[in-house]
Amino acid sequence: MKVPMVDMLAGYPPIKDEIEAAVKNVFNKANFILGEEVKKFEAEFAAHNGAKFCVGVANGTDALRMAYLASGIKAGDEVITSPFTFIATTETITQVGAVPVFADIDPVTFCLDPKSVEKKITKKTRAIAPVHLYGHPCDMDALMALAKKHNLLVIEDTAQAFTGKYKLGGTDWKMLGSIGQCGTYSFFPAKNLGAFGDGGAIVTSDQKIYDTLIQLRNHGSKVRYHHEMEGFNSRLDTVQAAILSIRLKHVEKWTEMRNKVAEKYAAALKGVCVTPVVPANARHSFNYYTIRFDSKAKRDNAQKHLTELGIANQIYYPITLHLQEAYKHLGYKRGDLPVCDAVQDTVFSLPMYPELSDEQIKAVTDAVKESVKVAV
Ligand SMILES: *Cc1c(COP(=O)(O)O)cnc(C)c1O
Repeated sequence: MKVPMVDMLAGYPPIKDEIEAAVKNVFNKANFILGEEVKKFEAEFAAHNGAKFCVGVANGTDALRMAYLASGIKAGDEVITSPFTFIATTETITQVGAVPVFADIDPVTFCLDPKSVEKKITKKTRAIAPVHLYGHPCDMDALMALAKKHNLLVIEDTAQAFTGKYKLGGTDWKMLGSIGQCGTYSFFPAKNLGAFGDGGAIVTSDQKIYDTLIQLRNHGSKVRYHHEMEGFNSRLDTVQAAILSIRLKHVEKWTEMRNKVAEKYAAALKGVCVTPVVPANARHSFNYYTIRFDSKAKRDNAQKHLTELGIANQIYYPITLHLQEAYKHLGYKRGDLPVCDAVQDTVFSLPMYPELSDEQIKAVTDAVKESVKVAV
């Protein structure tokens, strides 16, 4: 049975008419740039995240770059982050003139290990950029405590984790992205809240950061042709905002469905490989469902078997950033971050989307089980 990694159209039929009407409405008004649908979506998205403000931007990468800039990160600063992420997290650190500093990850959650972060703090450190990888929350209690102790900013890369939650201090449920100074999101189609094209957003409850972001995304201007600073052309499209408003109403239900798929995967794969752990103080948003094997050979073998059967699969991420050609000048080598080394060699991700059927789940888990029976 063929199973795709994601199926953007599986959840489309029930909302098709509503989306097409909303798009037509934007076309009829021709308010394509910063139309009222953008403001409306920003208000809804901020409220959903329990944040004061949201700024819609062109994509999740721009969201990161502008969040770093608006928080005051500048040339010569260091930002500590995970190398087990997409390069957008770190290329944008470099693009604002700062230096990404890589810390190791936790072997169970695959997110930043606060103990490793603490060892990387220097006089130049300005911020920590936790990445809630695959939708799993980072250890925000420990990271926020470190930030407080060393007077650092926290910018959360929430591209994979919208609708994920964390119980701060063991009592206070917070949406991921609303814990640090800023949280950044991507509406790339395959993310939990996907647009029908590119899109992104930043949430913050800091008025000054918000004011700066509003300017940065629109050439540094609040009033047309009056520029208090230089900025970018990075606005959330009105058509995408109209679509996102509609999809936002369903996203919590979709996350529940993702969690159900994850439970079924975990039940079927018990004792076969390591499946994701969801601690009591967290809600995982399962943008990706990642499994781990006890050897690279077993991982490679399982991947090969699934591919032969037409079951999509992907390693997120096959080469951690500290070992990429692009970061050679930073001087990291294998052995510097041992957990990252081990994890990149032994994980891969299974198909994951809300509408995945029981038959599809069985086909996927049967294939994984078959693959581990073969001695490698
Ligand atoms: C997708 C992603 C981004 C970038 O988002 P785009 O909208 O594709 O620019 C940033 N960080 C992480 C962790 C991502 O997965």
